Amino acid sequence: ELTVQDIVTWIEKANEKMQANKEYLTTLDQEIGDGDHGINMARGFQEAAAKLADNDYPDAEAVLKDTAMTLMSKIGGASGPLFGTAFLKMSVASKEAETLDYETFKHGLKEAVEGIKQRGKATEGEKTLVDVWAKMADLFNKETDFSADKIADEANDAMEQTKDMMATKGRASYFKERSIGHIDPGSASSQYIFTALAEVIG
Ligand code: ADP
Ligand code: MG
Ligand code: MG
Repeated sequence: ELTVQDIVTWIEKANEKMQANKEYLTTLDQEIGDGDHGINMARGFQEAAAKLADNDYPDAEAVLKDTAMTLMSKIGGASGPLFGTAFLKMSVASKEAETLDYETFKHGLKEAVEGIKQRGKATEGEKTLVDVWAKMADLFNKETDFSADKIADEANDAMEQTKDMMATKGRASYFKERSIGHIDPGSASSQYIFTALAEVIG
């Protein structure tokens, strides 16, 4: 089960990674975007971590919802609403189940992927954060044994795989063939979210 405290720790750890890798994420976005992804993610997760530290939450639904709302409004850009949607879908899933046990979390992750796809009008293979989120939802839903290393490895693989893809959504799509050979920035930041999760549950 993911407790309220686990979720707060998850966001704190994700925030640490966004701050530590802010410049790297920005460099990735300079290559196939407008160079603000590190700034966007560092700002959004800073605000979310601060908000969570300042408040008490009765349940997983509430803490995930506040995370979603903060990310949605503070990340900005194309990715803010997508990360917001992901956490909002996980919140809704845990509301229905009352706690965030692993079955519910797996279901919530699936719903998160559906939500991101709908909102971004994107699917797998388009060199977006969908590629990492979909791979992680598959991992959690297909395997029973997910060690921290396995989660981190799969997230890293999914991110690396975006390198060979041609972007067909978002700003990177303007680069057409020239987007090939670069890691998708949103997949890199998503990978940090999942390695942070691995540290909490693995
Ligand atoms: P912006 O492109 O507005 O500057 P960011 O730099 O914060 O926003 O985020 C860019 C990331 O958002 C991309 O690397 C990609 O992963 C993701 N992204 C952009 N557009 C879409 C979309 N339509 N569907 C899914 N993900 C997207
Ligand atoms: Mg950008
Ligand atoms: Mg931008």
